[in-house]
Amino acid sequence: MEIPRRGLAIYTFGNVSVLDRGGTFFAIKPSGVPYDDLAPADMVIVDLDGNTVDGGLNPSSDTPTHAVLYREWGGPSVGAVVHTHSPWATAWAQARRPIPCYGTTQADHLPGEVPCAPLLDNAAIEGAYEKETGMALVRHLADASLDPAGVPMIIQAGHGPFAWGATPEKAIYHAVVLEELARMALHTETINSGIEKIPKVLIDKHYLRKHGPGAYYGQSNDS
Ligand SMILES: [Zn+2]
Repeated sequence: MEIPRRGLAIYTFGNVSVLDRGGTFFAIKPSGVPYDDLAPADMVIVDLDGNTVDGGLNPSSDTPTHAVLYREWGGPSVGAVVHTHSPWATAWAQARRPIPCYGTTQADHLPGEVPCAPLLDNAAIEGAYEKETGMALVRHLADASLDPAGVPMIIQAGHGPFAWGATPEKAIYHAVVLEELARMALHTETINSGIEKIPKVLIDKHYLRKHGPGAYYGQSNDS
């Protein structure tokens, strides 16, 4: 319900899932139920093949995508996944461009650009489309030698944003941050179309002070 509250979705757009701590099942939003009507009992429990094991409603149509992400990445850093079509991040996805790191807001959250996975090919679209979507995201991060524990967000060309985190609150946070980064980056290019990304030393400074081995941002009891 925080997805529309944060302005990330209209109508029934968007979905969120949460992996069980045992890593065997996950809970996901039901398909096509208005956010205002959602109740805990409406959540659908599925296994990592996307089969419903508990719940009276159909799970989100994107369930096979979430299942792939948990099979490949599920664990302490990827315990929840959020997918929306939030407009600013989706605009970059539709432009088929990774979001360059133009400032320290972005470097505070990831060590460079927001990656952009390519369009699916025709066979993937005509095949197990939602599963192929998840596999494309996994493949793209792996090809870029990026770790989902350190890069908690991605956009997919022609589609939209995906974000994840240790908890659903963290995953939503990353989805909201991604939307803000997308908005800032577009404005940045509007003001100066020739702008370059900030230097790596500045990216590293901000990323590593929050996420590196000697992280010193926030309070010492922050996880
Ligand atoms: Zn979608």
